[in-house]
Amino acid sequence: MAIEHAASEIMECKNPATGEVIGTVPIVGAEQVNAAVRRARLAAEGWASLGFARRNEELTKWRRALARRSDDLIELIHLENGKPRLDAAQEVMNALSHLSHASSRAAKALATKRVSSGLLKNFRTTVSYHPLGVVGVIGPWNFPVFTPMGSIAYALAAGNAVVFKPSELTSMIGQLLGETAATCFSVPNLLTVVTGNGHTGAALARADLDKIAFTGSSRTGRRVMAAAAENLTPVLLELGGNDPMIVASDADLDQAAEAAVYGAFANSGQACVAVERCYVEAPVYREFVERVVDQVRDISVGADDGAKIGAMTMPAQVAIVREHLDDAIAKGATVLCGGPSEINGSFIPPTVLTDVSEDMRIMREETFGPVLPIASIGSVDEGIERANDSDYGLGSSIFGKSGVRAVAARLRAGMTAINSVMVFAGVPMLPFGGVGESGFGRIHGDEGLREFSRAKATAEKRFSIPINPMTFRQPKGALGQMRSMISQFYGGGVIDRAQSTIGKLFS
Ligand code: NAD
Repeated sequence: MAIEHAASEIMECKNPATGEVIGTVPIVGAEQVNAAVRRARLAAEGWASLGFARRNEELTKWRRALARRSDDLIELIHLENGKPRLDAAQEVMNALSHLSHASSRAAKALATKRVSSGLLKNFRTTVSYHPLGVVGVIGPWNFPVFTPMGSIAYALAAGNAVVFKPSELTSMIGQLLGETAATCFSVPNLLTVVTGNGHTGAALARADLDKIAFTGSSRTGRRVMAAAAENLTPVLLELGGNDPMIVASDADLDQAAEAAVYGAFANSGQACVAVERCYVEAPVYREFVERVVDQVRDISVGADDGAKIGAMTMPAQVAIVREHLDDAIAKGATVLCGGPSEINGSFIPPTVLTDVSEDMRIMREETFGPVLPIASIGSVDEGIERANDSDYGLGSSIFGKSGVRAVAARLRAGMTAINSVMVFAGVPMLPFGGVGESGFGRIHGDEGLREFSRAKATAEKRFSIPINPMTFRQPKGALGQMRSMISQFYGGGVIDRAQSTIGKLFS
């Protein structure tokens, strides 16, 4: 459900392509945020008690309701975020695939499991997973359905209630998610949407939550973490990226160029896992650049249905892209197509740069616009070194034939696509998240379900054995016995011999 309008505190929602006001939403204050969290706490109890099968049924009902309203959702994403309708439809499709996966997978991923009890053979030991309670989700505007769904679906499937604060730039889309949820869940206030600006987000970060899942910029992520620290609220941070792509000389250049163009320009480059810099081995550099530029000619920019690239969602981002381009050009970059002179209001043409170097902001910072800087490298090793020389570590990609898996393993990133780009985000079994400035914690996959669960260890004594470390009533020679066991088990004796025998048997 969404919080009702409070007349004195409303904000306008605009179409970024035209600047036209398309609606208003309340700016939810701290008191209302706290009240929403209190209601969610009651909901969490009811929801947790339903168990996996009932939760799966109700989440399936929500998924179907969203699918039935997908035309409204696509239209609203197009209007409020500015992306082309096809991109919006793909986003809805991907979001629903995660909702479907999370709800049906939860029972298996979070099933209680028997684990080895080590030397204490008389114990039955298990790990079980339990809901955290109330999860706060703060979302960005670039994928206003897909991105928050990566937290919302997995948190709900794991048995939690959610209070969701959508980006102020895509509040109406957030409200639509909340409205549909309210008609599907038997537990009231299971998913509450609190619209508003940064103050609303800050209030949620300080609220009495059991976890906060934040997706947005690294700058705001730090603030969220600092606020959450006051209550020791655990945080999951999905932050920015500066994703590298490496193209080896044995790569299929057509495929690599096609992927680079899509990876850099889809969603106007406003994707955390967009290709932000490309490193191409010298022998194929010229040919690769030609193929990229050829393909860019077919990409039209605008608000009409034929356009592949829509409006930039956030006006301030246009200024950042322009600054990065001006800085690169001043430091010697060559513009092969697009460029700052062709920026028209909130529309930025796909821009390809060569002669780029690592001292340029475009190579070191997240540009978050339709820009592809392409650098020539002497070897794949150099590519890996330059790719890894970044504060960020979200996605990455490698194109080539021989040794690509080894290259992937050496890339310091949460995700790597081999001979593809961004694909990991759409595979529900794969965990999604970064390292360094890109954040920590994982959404998606079994890791994503466990991220919203509390692991509980249980050790059950089944029978007694002569050695019992959990008593003061030890026999006389206990100290000597313990010394001998330390030496036998861990000093190169029994355990090492057993492990080496097992190793030989299975090698
Ligand atoms: P942002 O940091 O400006 O805002 C994100 C959200 O935080 C918004 O809802 C905003 O209202 C809220 N907020 C602002 N101030 C706050 C505060 N003090 N406390 C709590 N919440 C506050 O980010 P954005 O511009 O909306 O999104 C773009 C960024 O998100 C990019 O850096 C992009 O890479 C990143 N992103 C990351 C992922 C990922 O999964 N890693 C996915 C999508 C986007």
